[in-house]
Amino acid sequence: MPLLMMESNMGGKMIMRIDLSNENLMLHETLYFTGNGYIGIRANFEEGYPSDYDSIRGSYINGYYESYPITYGESAVGFPKVGEKMVNLMDGQGIRIKIGGDQFSMFDGQINAFDRGLDIEKGYAYRIIDWTSPSGHRMKIEFRRLTSFVVKEVAVISVIFTSINYDGVVEVLSSVEGEVTNYASEDDPRVADDHGMLMDIQQNEILGGTVIFKASTKRSNIEVGLCALHEPRMHQMMVGGHRSEGITDFNITKGESKRVDKYLVFTDSIRHTDVTNDGLAILSKVVDQGARDLYDQQSLYLEEFWSRSKVEILGNQAVEEAVNYSVYQLLASAGTSKQSQISAKGLSGEGYEGHYFWDTEIYMIPFFTLTNPELAKNLLSYRYDTLDAAKARAREMGHALGAKIPWRTISGIESSAYFPAGSAQYHINADVAYAMIQYYIVTKDLSFMIQKAFEVIYETARIWLDMGHFDEEGRFRIHSVTGPDEYTAIVNNNYYTNAMAQYHMKWAMKLLNTISDYDFEAFKTLESKIGIKAREMDMLLRAADKMYLPFDKKKRISVQDDGFMEKKPWDFESEDEKKRPLLLHFHPLTIYRHQVLKQADTVLAHFLLDNEDDEIMKRSYHFYEKLTTHDSSLSPCVYSMMAARIGEGQKAYDYFMKTVRLDLDNLHHNTKDGLHIANAGGAYMGIVYGFAGLRITEDGIVIRPLLPKKWQSITFSYFYQGIKVKVTVGKKIKIVTSGPISLCVYNRWYEVDGERTVTYNESN
Ligand code: BGC
Repeated sequence: MPLLMMESNMGGKMIMRIDLSNENLMLHETLYFTGNGYIGIRANFEEGYPSDYDSIRGSYINGYYESYPITYGESAVGFPKVGEKMVNLMDGQGIRIKIGGDQFSMFDGQINAFDRGLDIEKGYAYRIIDWTSPSGHRMKIEFRRLTSFVVKEVAVISVIFTSINYDGVVEVLSSVEGEVTNYASEDDPRVADDHGMLMDIQQNEILGGTVIFKASTKRSNIEVGLCALHEPRMHQMMVGGHRSEGITDFNITKGESKRVDKYLVFTDSIRHTDVTNDGLAILSKVVDQGARDLYDQQSLYLEEFWSRSKVEILGNQAVEEAVNYSVYQLLASAGTSKQSQISAKGLSGEGYEGHYFWDTEIYMIPFFTLTNPELAKNLLSYRYDTLDAAKARAREMGHALGAKIPWRTISGIESSAYFPAGSAQYHINADVAYAMIQYYIVTKDLSFMIQKAFEVIYETARIWLDMGHFDEEGRFRIHSVTGPDEYTAIVNNNYYTNAMAQYHMKWAMKLLNTISDYDFEAFKTLESKIGIKAREMDMLLRAADKMYLPFDKKKRISVQDDGFMEKKPWDFESEDEKKRPLLLHFHPLTIYRHQVLKQADTVLAHFLLDNEDDEIMKRSYHFYEKLTTHDSSLSPCVYSMMAARIGEGQKAYDYFMKTVRLDLDNLHHNTKDGLHIANAGGAYMGIVYGFAGLRITEDGIVIRPLLPKKWQSITFSYFYQGIKVKVTVGKKIKIVTSGPISLCVYNRWYEVDGERTVTYNESN
């Protein structure tokens, strides 16, 4: 797998212009961030930027948050009172270098060559600079950093010096800075307002060469620890205020290489009993192990990961790299420990305050379900671990029974202060259930259903009975909700919500029957724990059966909601094209009044459920496409996959290209605030669900390939009930399995055990 090289003029060949503009640096802080699902460190220059530059210098722990009071001008019953935000931690990145008295800076002296990238095969980010100092000392300086996938608390920053013409002393000053704040923006609702310094530093000392920091958030009272040690050891160390510093120096001669490794260990009191002692124990182990070994271990870990997860595209290497970049970022963002999941920006930035949304279940977990079911299970468990909070939220919202999954959260409580596009998105209940059901179909892991998932599925399903009612014609209607499209709020019978709730309730009952058939004891235990009554079960079945799905008989399309067709279409013609996203330019009511979509809504339901006939889905697609701004990054991938589903290859390709390059090309102009991880999941799905047309059905896996004309083939793997299946879709389809499976290609089922090549016809 090639390295991802995005800026380089190494080897005399300029691959890309070196751009040290502030805008580009902030973007690259995100793109080259290193994360392992537990810690994430933005790719800031260790030595910093000039003082007039802006930077989001950030290190984060997944699920580590501070609480703050939400203040409303006018409050009402059930408004969340406390918000949460991911905390920017102590900064362990600082390393300054002096060569013969000249301070190293990319903005001073001369850069002879520069290469920066993220090696997704080996799992580290690097920055290599061939630099001549103002006094003429020439040195190659390579920065490398990893956050270990094997020992999650550990980050290593290595600096490797190779002298080109210099004989003399190199001085390295390394720091840990405790005076940190989160990034704030008053003008962008997707970035939080300033809340000052979120942690109190409780300990900052140096013991036997080890820097020890301990801090605690001021309101949520969660501790965080950071221990740091250098190899070779620093010999002059000092503590001042909230900062620790150490200096080491060494002699280097022309042609010689020298190396400094900085080990950082982060711990927090949600997952560690004693942040300092646990941190010190981990630190001592990894320092003994040595940095080189940590890099090797990282490679091995990723070798296994890529053997399951790699996507190959013959005919477009740039796209292959971009898809695998997305796949890597999914891994780098995925929480594997208690109380952590995947936030909208992963661990790459502070946009959306580090909150977990429905993004995880609908856009990110599908990748894990297919390629790494164990990781999928961890991620799905989060909603079980936080079920009590979801039940409490349901009571606050006036539901006597059931659970309401928060729209945005870290610890499990509702953190959304704007209910029309927050709490009103009840569909998240069905989204969570959907991801669990898909996982079950692929793995047949009934014990996970019994132990955790079923309870979540049932508690979140029973709320539909309270949300909805049967009308005079006996149809089940759900009122006053917001669907996925946040440019349309608080509507009756949102097609997506109703269709997903229908699926949700049907499956809740189906799983209950399966559990009762398979393990009656377990069924009885669940029945009494959850308080399941026969009448409620009947109602769930009836509501699902009688679910009202709005339909326009004249246009023969699924209708987004009851009032949608009467609204005035948004005037795309006269609108100033620069006014995007609409949410930053228009009052919400102006937007709500119009037929205009932020993101896929009905089309997303068709994609997930495949529940209407092809003609209806096709007409609906064309109707909504004209009205969709794609102001949300969660949208183009859905339009790509559905275009492939309805046989429109060029459209599928065009939307896919917008998805796969969204962050790399900063198409939404806000990648500095973090990667769009749902979109990263969408890039993976664009290949597997889009061009290969994979769907998880109760009968097994179905594929309906529609390959872009310019590509020769795509290859991907998935696991079906423990069996590895590798599929290469070209003119023919090659299937290699580790055991017997059935696979449906278009409408024909094939039995495969080992290897088989099948032909297909797109028009089938
Ligand atoms: C989208 C939501 C999404 C959130 C976080 C918003 O812009 O409209 O659907 O959950 O971003 O990614």
